[in-house]
Amino acid sequence: MICDNLAVNQKGHLTFCGHDTLALAKQYGTPLYVMDEDRIRENCRRYVQAMKEHFGPEALPLYASKAASFKRIYQIVKEEGLGVDVVSPGEIYTAALAGFPLEKAYFHSNNKTDEDIAFAMDHKVGYFVVDCQEELDAIEKEAASRGLRQKVLLRLTPGIDPHTYEAVNTGMVDSKFGSAIETGQAAQITQHCLGLPHVELMGFHCHIGSQVFDADTFVRSSEIMLTFIAQIQVRFGYLARELNLGGGFGVRYTQEDPFLDVDQEIARLARAMEEKANQMGIPMPQVRMEPGRSIVADAGLTLYTAGSVKKIPGYKNYVSIDGGMTDNPRFALYGSAYTVYNAGKMNDPVALTADVVGRCCESGDIIQKNVSLPATVRGDIVAVLTTGAYNYSMASNYNRLCRPALVMVTKDRSYVAVERESLAYLTQNDV
Ligand SMILES: *Cc1c(COP(=O)(O)O)cnc(C)c1O
Repeated sequence: MICDNLAVNQKGHLTFCGHDTLALAKQYGTPLYVMDEDRIRENCRRYVQAMKEHFGPEALPLYASKAASFKRIYQIVKEEGLGVDVVSPGEIYTAALAGFPLEKAYFHSNNKTDEDIAFAMDHKVGYFVVDCQEELDAIEKEAASRGLRQKVLLRLTPGIDPHTYEAVNTGMVDSKFGSAIETGQAAQITQHCLGLPHVELMGFHCHIGSQVFDADTFVRSSEIMLTFIAQIQVRFGYLARELNLGGGFGVRYTQEDPFLDVDQEIARLARAMEEKANQMGIPMPQVRMEPGRSIVADAGLTLYTAGSVKKIPGYKNYVSIDGGMTDNPRFALYGSAYTVYNAGKMNDPVALTADVVGRCCESGDIIQKNVSLPATVRGDIVAVLTTGAYNYSMASNYNRLCRPALVMVTKDRSYVAVERESLAYLTQNDV
């Protein structure tokens, strides 16, 4: 199994966090998002412990809540002591409703509107991660009108390609996010920021990418950032207190994906950073990391009911499910790999290779191609694993489909965290 919260019971059914997935499908209906609360907590604790042990007590992981954003998740993350990263008024509002202490929230986004900025200040969001100089000026203006001093970090692009580990002069420098170190804009915006009376520069941020499986990429980007911090200290006499290295640690979607030991990778990163900081003659900044996927992905799976099974002799086979790109657009968007099972026939021999496809009127509405399945018939329960990140949060109502319910499970109970949408909900804004 790709994650240890999965198993097969005596009936040959897939279990998740000890629950029979067929029983969950029967009780709550399909399509159904299921999330393992125990696993989310374990993932949170792994980051908190590793960061505090290797970076010191001031270090803090921030949950990147765009991966999965609903009230209950902010409560869990709050209880586990993480901060959060939010990217919109909707995420801020949801976190606020959940009672999350927003002084521990970091507001991201490459385009915060004037309304967004005002909204975040109304809600006393602790930190703004500033994308560019124009936005910085808008934040200064709003903070000035309120007579407050807003804490900010500047988002920089270190110019790293996460998939080659190489610093590149182009490519990532031309990202739509952040200000580039390479072009001198990062130093420029820092100098500008230090002259503004209503913002307090706390430090710098970078985020290099996703599905990163070892610390090498983080080591490279942290070295570039520490070098920048040292140069800024020499040039402007400003010493950054915080360094936020973003998110991106990878998860296992399939058997081919490697295991990642968060504690070991963070330990390795911390050693490399201390060495670099020493070499540059600066104290180690307080480190922040922003895991999203690696907090929630393996804590989720999606259950569907199979519908038509279509065989086109000499071509291919299709198994249709009662959801699709509306609840999981990631194959359609990026060709993402997923592990798919017939959840009630885990011990049956493979009898069919099929594309598992959704119910939307789009040929690209595919969950996964060429899936090996046992003999699968209408009414069988299909499980797609590792869907806890970027599935619910990317879901849509395309084809006027209702978004599924989201059920949380722990070792000894299950409960609804997000209700299934109703037809009435779908039309409630129609005038
Ligand atoms: C998306 C994002 C993250 C989280 O990335 P994961 O790959 O889910 O860990 C963190 N920080 C920023 C700025 C992001 O945009």
